[in-house]
Amino acid sequence: MKYISTRGNAPELSFAEAMLTGLARDGGLYVPKKIPTMAHDEIAALAGLSYEEIAFRVMKPFIGESFSDDEFKGIIERAYAGFRHEARAPLVQLAPNHYLLELFHGPTLAFKDFAMQLIGQLFQFELNRRGERVTIVGATSGDTGSAAIEAFRGLDNVDVFILYPEGRTSDIQRKQMTTPDDANVHALALDGDFDDCQARLKDMFNDFEFRDGVKLAGVNSINWARVLAQVVYYFSSAVSLGAPHREVSFTVPTGNFGDIFAGFIAKQMGLPIEKLVIATNQNDILHRTIETGAYTKEGVKPSISPSMDIQVSSNFERALFFAYDRDGDAVAQLMEELKDGSFTISQGAMETLRETFTSGRASEEETMATIKAEFSASQEVLCPHSAVAVKVANEQLSETPMITLATAHPAKFPDAVEKAMGVHPELPPHMADLMEREERSCKVPNQLALLETLIKDRIASR
Ligand SMILES: *Cc1c(COP(=O)(O)O)cnc(C)c1O
Repeated sequence: MKYISTRGNAPELSFAEAMLTGLARDGGLYVPKKIPTMAHDEIAALAGLSYEEIAFRVMKPFIGESFSDDEFKGIIERAYAGFRHEARAPLVQLAPNHYLLELFHGPTLAFKDFAMQLIGQLFQFELNRRGERVTIVGATSGDTGSAAIEAFRGLDNVDVFILYPEGRTSDIQRKQMTTPDDANVHALALDGDFDDCQARLKDMFNDFEFRDGVKLAGVNSINWARVLAQVVYYFSSAVSLGAPHREVSFTVPTGNFGDIFAGFIAKQMGLPIEKLVIATNQNDILHRTIETGAYTKEGVKPSISPSMDIQVSSNFERALFFAYDRDGDAVAQLMEELKDGSFTISQGAMETLRETFTSGRASEEETMATIKAEFSASQEVLCPHSAVAVKVANEQLSETPMITLATAHPAKFPDAVEKAMGVHPELPPHMADLMEREERSCKVPNQLALLETLIKDRIASR
């Protein structure tokens, strides 16, 4: 199994190499050269298996020779052992034909744990085998950072630096990043928004001297292994509702397009998915793109669903690569145009995208109203991101069962939830003292050279 860049101009890599590399050297993202498929009876045989066993069967064809079966099984077991729900990703019914996939039972209470816990185990295993160390730098709007810190804290062969936009995460998200006291964890509060964090991270990857000097590795959803881990729960949930014997649809609260792109991969693998619905908050670049075919950046407006406050949606590049029939040059051209703020997608590529994707958006008021209404209707307490998705899903209900992804625990966003429904959502007992723990963080300017120096100094002084 080989991986190629969406911009067609970087070396082909194995799974382990693509995972340790993150961003391709031509600025593109790694994708499988050929997407493996699962036959109807192989999918049917997943029914009733544990989450871990489904994970093994779904991901195995993408791993190639990088890990033996036993190694990979052990990695998966360890990755999900810390989840607080036996099913890992339980499905609850909201209404006739509408189900909620609860992805927030991991250690940091957001779906990012599914990928990050796995990637932590994969990195540890592979780095030990190679006797190497890496510097992980991640950009976060809140949840990726806490999930990455939780997955990599205390590991000898990894330093983890997280850039988060100062003042734009929820208090709980910030606390989860700034309270771990392990020497290899570095939380950096950047003077800017999430897109600035992501842009500086990309700059570091494109500065080859720095990149090679610190052995830079990325765990943002540009990392293929993240996307792969998320493919699993599309299978586990669809099969529990009768796939492959019947079709299902999914609605996904979307920011960087990583989670929903995993659904696209599941569909390419043979899972009968009718529609993948992109749900955005008021930062609706993806919704506008599906409607008009023009991908046009506007300023980010901070919302009550901060993990979706994004304008440049990294993984959309992967969808474009497939919509343009794997034409790396065409994708590179679009990304060049984006430097001036926008590009227009060809009619053929738009038709391909619309075969799979539809979209909708939720305003701040609609998101609040949905939290309240869903609690009255089903007693389910939604986080604001999940509420965006439920609002959009409700507009798309049909004969086909709809599975809406609940991406975070409501207690991660207590202010918005309390304002919407008048009840303060409580943190689970193991995190109850989070707000009292001491914080460690470092304010940093939005300047590449200063950031690189700080990172080099911190590594040298360890
Ligand atoms: C990251 C995140 C999202 C968006 O996921 P993408 O893969 O970036 O589209 C949605 N909800 C929550 C709670 C998140 O943490």
